[in-house]
Amino acid sequence: MEAIKTGPRADPASRAAEPARKVFVKTYGCQMNVYDSQRMTDALAADGYAPTQRIDEADLVLLNTCHIREKAAEKVYSELGRIREMKRERQLVGRDMTVGIAGCVAQAEGREILRRAPVVDLVIGPQTYHRLPDALRRVRSGEKVVETDYAIEDKFEHLPQPGRAEIIRRGVTAFLSVQEGCDKFCTFCVVPYTRGAEVSRPVAQIVAEAERLAGAGVREITLLGQNVNAWHGAGPDGREWGLGRLLFRLAEIPGVARLRYTTSHPRDMDDALIAAHRDLAALMPYLHLPVQSGSDRILKAMNRRHRADDYLRLVEQIRGARSDIAMSGDFIVGFPGETEADFEATLGLVREVGYAQAFSFKYSPRPGTPGADMQGHLGEGVKDERLQRLQSLLSAQQQDFTTSRVGMRFDVLVEKPGRLPAQLAGRSPWLQPVILDETAGEIGDIIPVRIARSEGTTLFADAA
Ligand code: SAM
Ligand code: SF4
Repeated sequence: MEAIKTGPRADPASRAAEPARKVFVKTYGCQMNVYDSQRMTDALAADGYAPTQRIDEADLVLLNTCHIREKAAEKVYSELGRIREMKRERQLVGRDMTVGIAGCVAQAEGREILRRAPVVDLVIGPQTYHRLPDALRRVRSGEKVVETDYAIEDKFEHLPQPGRAEIIRRGVTAFLSVQEGCDKFCTFCVVPYTRGAEVSRPVAQIVAEAERLAGAGVREITLLGQNVNAWHGAGPDGREWGLGRLLFRLAEIPGVARLRYTTSHPRDMDDALIAAHRDLAALMPYLHLPVQSGSDRILKAMNRRHRADDYLRLVEQIRGARSDIAMSGDFIVGFPGETEADFEATLGLVREVGYAQAFSFKYSPRPGTPGADMQGHLGEGVKDERLQRLQSLLSAQQQDFTTSRVGMRFDVLVEKPGRLPAQLAGRSPWLQPVILDETAGEIGDIIPVRIARSEGTTLFADAA
């Protein structure tokens, strides 16, 4: 931990009229950040902070940031410009506002953030969230705190669990991080530098958290990890478990009806996990399996350690185990040296797989990654044009997949009220939003429906 003395600050907790300090958390990036934001909120609740949705009434503003692409990181700095004005206005009426940067920008840029944005009081990396209350105490005593050391202790062991009321407030679906960090070192990616080495949480800790969630009404759990299918751990039977075995164990927990996991690396899809897709009814038939490119030359330059063919064979094997599985993926266009032929190979792979849904990005050079120093960076114009072509193919596939559900019967998990009165909103097994009539059931129910029509990517179930 590094700290700079800046002189004592008014402690908002000491204001007699304020029962609780308020925290506003804004989350950027992936589901792991969503999960981390919840865990930070839990840690802060134990320290007397109540969450608020209104930034202008917050005593503490925390931006949980993403560093994966340049745009994502720059968004944080422009938000900090707005926050600086807000903080000034609050100070004019005698109220202070503490500003904290968490997440991968915090980890990657550390002290540089304080230089670029003096409004920031606290910089805290993703491995040290359990130290948040202590770091805030130091901020209140006048320090600027940079907390980006990789903690030796396990942050999950030290982070408080959410209370039952908070789990219920968050709804009937929940994220559960089982794995953090990455040892793969794809040449485009900052994750191994910002999240550190691959670490798996122990089985007992994961089961206990899942039981707690299910006990408060959660029906669907999505296991998270930067490389979630690399998860492994010692099982209570004394054997080494992989993700497939863990999923079977979690499916035994009363109340857990649906399981998902994301994000997976093709090299870590082992036979036991593929068998789980065949044999475990609770495991939903949807798999996010990023490939990034369809060109072997580019895959090699990306250090993906698989070829396009390996990926296609894998998809075939997974579909052999579960024929109705919907595939999702991530793609990067315009990696250094990518030719038109390489890009065509990506389009070819997409046509061969047929994706139900996908994320595609223009390559963004990240400082400190090998890709940033490679020869052959492409112009933005080429990247834009390729991204547009790829995205129109992917959205046509997504549209086909959506309309192919019309007329089908399947179970929907009811998640929340719909946007319009008398509606409920749920999810199909393939993660598509489904709108139902409010008489169809209750939130948390899993009900069989027939799909009457689709609109965009949303499905509408018959009233009866
Ligand atoms: N672990 C996952 C995997 O192996 O594919 C990916 C996790 S990464 C947080 C999410 C996605 O961001 C990647 O799959 C990739 O498509 C995209 N991404 C990562 N670095 C990028 C970069 N430098 N430029 C553009 N997209 C990037
Ligand atoms: Fe990044 Fe995923 Fe590659 Fe790890 S496996 S370096 S998280 S893209």
